[in-house]
Amino acid sequence: MMHSRGKVTLVGAGPGDPELLTLKAVKAIQQATVLLVDDLVSDGVLAYAAPGARIVHVGKRGGCRSTPQSFIERLMITAAHEGEQVVRLKGGDPFVFGRGGEELEHLREAGVEVHVVNGITAGLAAVSSLGVPLTHRDHAHGVVFVTGHAKPGDEGIDWAALATTARQARLTLVIYMGVSGVDTIQQGLLRGLPASTPAAVIQHASLPQQRQVTTPLGQLAATVARDGLASPAVIVVGDVLTGIAAASEQARRSAAG
Ligand code: SAH
Repeated sequence: MMHSRGKVTLVGAGPGDPELLTLKAVKAIQQATVLLVDDLVSDGVLAYAAPGARIVHVGKRGGCRSTPQSFIERLMITAAHEGEQVVRLKGGDPFVFGRGGEELEHLREAGVEVHVVNGITAGLAAVSSLGVPLTHRDHAHGVVFVTGHAKPGDEGIDWAALATTARQARLTLVIYMGVSGVDTIQQGLLRGLPASTPAAVIQHASLPQQRQVTTPLGQLAATVARDGLASPAVIVVGDVLTGIAAASEQARRSAAG
């Protein structure tokens, strides 16, 4: 296998607010000679790149189709073999959805040295921004991060079964990539959870344009449609959101102050 002094670092860019980057992420971004950047990475994060670094946007900006995964991987492998310090910037944490795992495997197969830097995943940032503790022990024994969007050919989640488990085990649900399929998700979840279960949708968490709404599960899809909430957004379902109105008002006040 070929080996070179170049390397690839898969870096979690966090949910958007550059102040939520880790120090390791900032250091890797500063030292990168080539950066491959996903859609959900904010410009404030890219401000840390060195002036001469090559920045390649590989997301679906401007309504274009996203760059094929195989192309992104080939680009990283070639650059690393040429001795470049490649940073692959991915929204949130590189290994929470978003295909970081596949990239890692393919880079390793190609003999490329790979490092990983964690990021704050969107679900964590979204829920904290409401002033809600994800696993308050009065309400939850744990939390499930789940995708609303399975890969083609995969049936995806059995929402009814998940809801039943969540109710029995008292788990908070944090659903990524769920807004476009919110009708199906609501219908399935209602087969295991009461319609009164509190839910929230948080769009653009941690960014100045953040929007959020809380609603009973029974009105989740109608609320998303009414308020025009769209990707990127996280859906949260569970009793930890009880009393959310007061909590979010307090969070808003402390953010404003
Ligand atoms: N690796 C990422 C997730 C990639 S999947 C992470 O750890 O956060 C993309 C999904 O993440 C989006 O569809 C949305 O559900 C969620 N997401 C990413 N950034 C977000 C943000 N700032 N606010 C709300 N949801 C976000």
